[in-house]
Amino acid sequence: MTFDASIEHLADWIDEAASIVVLTGAGISVPSGIPDFRSAGGLYSLEQNRNVFDLDAFREDPTWYYRFAREFYPLVWSAVPNIAHRMTAGWERGGRKVEVVTQNVDDLHQRAGSSSVYPLHGDMMQSTCLRCGRQTEAMSLNEVIRRGEVPHCTCGGVYKPNITFFGRFDSCLRGLTGPGRDSSLTSNREMQ
Ligand SMILES: [Zn+2]
Repeated sequence: MTFDASIEHLADWIDEAASIVVLTGAGISVPSGIPDFRSAGGLYSLEQNRNVFDLDAFREDPTWYYRFAREFYPLVWSAVPNIAHRMTAGWERGGRKVEVVTQNVDDLHQRAGSSSVYPLHGDMMQSTCLRCGRQTEAMSLNEVIRRGEVPHCTCGGVYKPNITFFGRFDSCLRGLTGPGRDSSLTSNREMQ
């Protein structure tokens, strides 16, 4: 089957489906201006970004993460959903049951209007104090991050975004296989 024929075949399936599950990764947000991770020019192509999502490295010295965040967050805050996010949300508005499983932490599916989104790697809209567990909107930490500083809670603990860092794969699995269904599949078990 040629590529074009495969695409048409897929389109037919989607047209006929009453229920659709979509799995997305970084590629879907690249047209919205958010670079992916592993391609040439991706976020990991820069040496200083290699360990930014490593939990042990974050605990040891969060300044590396927040240096990265200073550049990365503005891209996410200013990004808007592109045609792929909007089309996925549109299937749902058209009356289909659509569930989106995404590796992305950028909230673009939610902002496009998809109501059933499972962010496998957590999300960056909220942050949690690693000492007392207090939650705060990531936007409220923007000023501090923009100044190039590490955001701290009033208790003195460091705020960590609710992104699942490497070293916490188990918490992601627990959400997937646990009872009930939660729009946030990650649990915050990263406090010490
Ligand atoms: Zn705290």
